[in-house]
Amino acid sequence: MQTPRKPLKPLDEALQELLAHALVLTGSEQVDTFDADGRVLLEAAVSPLQVPPQDNSAMDGYAVRAAECAVMGSGGDAVLPVSQRIPAGTAPDALAAGTVARIFTGAPVPAGADAIVMQEDCEVLDDGRVRIKSRPEAGQWIRLSGDDIQQGATVIAAGTRLAPAHLGLAASMGFATLAVARKPRVAMFSTGDELVMPGTVAPQDMKPGSIYNSNRFFLRALLLRMGCEVTDLGIVPDDREATVKALEQAAQSHDVIVTSGGVSVGEEDHIKPAVQQLGQLDLWQISIKPGKPFAYGRVNRKDHGFAHFIGLPGNPVSSFVTFQVLVRPFLLRLQGVQNVLPRAIQARADFVWPKGDKRREFLRVRYNERGGLELFRNQSSGVLTSTAWGDGVVDNPAGTTIAEGDSVSFIPFSELMA
Ligand code: AMP
Ligand code: MG
Repeated sequence: MQTPRKPLKPLDEALQELLAHALVLTGSEQVDTFDADGRVLLEAAVSPLQVPPQDNSAMDGYAVRAAECAVMGSGGDAVLPVSQRIPAGTAPDALAAGTVARIFTGAPVPAGADAIVMQEDCEVLDDGRVRIKSRPEAGQWIRLSGDDIQQGATVIAAGTRLAPAHLGLAASMGFATLAVARKPRVAMFSTGDELVMPGTVAPQDMKPGSIYNSNRFFLRALLLRMGCEVTDLGIVPDDREATVKALEQAAQSHDVIVTSGGVSVGEEDHIKPAVQQLGQLDLWQISIKPGKPFAYGRVNRKDHGFAHFIGLPGNPVSSFVTFQVLVRPFLLRLQGVQNVLPRAIQARADFVWPKGDKRREFLRVRYNERGGLELFRNQSSGVLTSTAWGDGVVDNPAGTTIAEGDSVSFIPFSELMA
């Protein structure tokens, strides 16, 4: 009699367990704000000042008292002498009554002035006085102090993954350096006797049964995008002893080991027993398609501590998808990011998916010009073209069919790669 197979672990449960293991790495780093793109902020950026620091002009023009322009303008435009000139970066005097000040964009508004008239609405007369041809409203074209940032406000929360905009924002508050999380040190290797590195054998000289190692290329690039320091240990043969040695060595000086291939159920899959020999396996096999053979555990170090172990399936699309839905959140959480799950949006399916799968599926799709989603013609886990063709994946719950026009949950790759 066959023993009933254990049900596969649902993705949400697996993710929860994975994140429970992802304790934030100890140790922070103070980096130049210039170099902080993609890093995770550890201490909230609280503004020590108002931004902008003073009320300043949003236009090249004239600083005026609005009321003077209005009153004097009865029966004609106001004509007023220019009492001072205020370029950006200078400190003005108070505006003398009955005068205007020449002012430039970004220059501080002089005390007493309450509006800026853009120069296009003014005319400089031969005697140097200025005709104000429009009726200014109090406050117009003045950027108020603190318009952008109030002193004491928490502007960038701890746990934010910094993007170019954050670097500018931090600089606007005067931060020359920022406290960020240490980069996770990640060792990666591919397993498979069939794998050959591009550049070592020409396509026409490939031995029967060999294929080029593609996973190594996108995994390395994805790890770098997730802010990791990557040690690439190359290709490890399908051999138990070699696998044990590679894992043992990788665990010594890394926080995480990421492998691809060899984590399935065949006799040539040596990763699982090797991890169990050196540490423990906490998770194996998730109810998703592609990506079922995903594994998580730990490899103990010789002295003390351990390295996290992440075993990705060998099939390229499985490897790609499990990286996005499981490894990415894990690596972000290690760096202290709170919101690690990608944001899905609702979109219209311009395709049919007549047979739902027992497992939750991630279908490679892309936008058409009507704003709907189209399905890649081949959803096989070996067809890497789908990942380059696609704009993202449809997160399709287990057992769900899709009809033309249905609203589906779409996760853009732009969300996953950032
Ligand atoms: P495995 O998980 O080792 O059983 O591999 C599953 C499938 O993925 C096999 O067809 C392998 O040849 C293929 N594969 C494994 N590793 C890679 C890799 N690094 N690059 C491209 N294909 C791979
Ligand atoms: Mg293999």
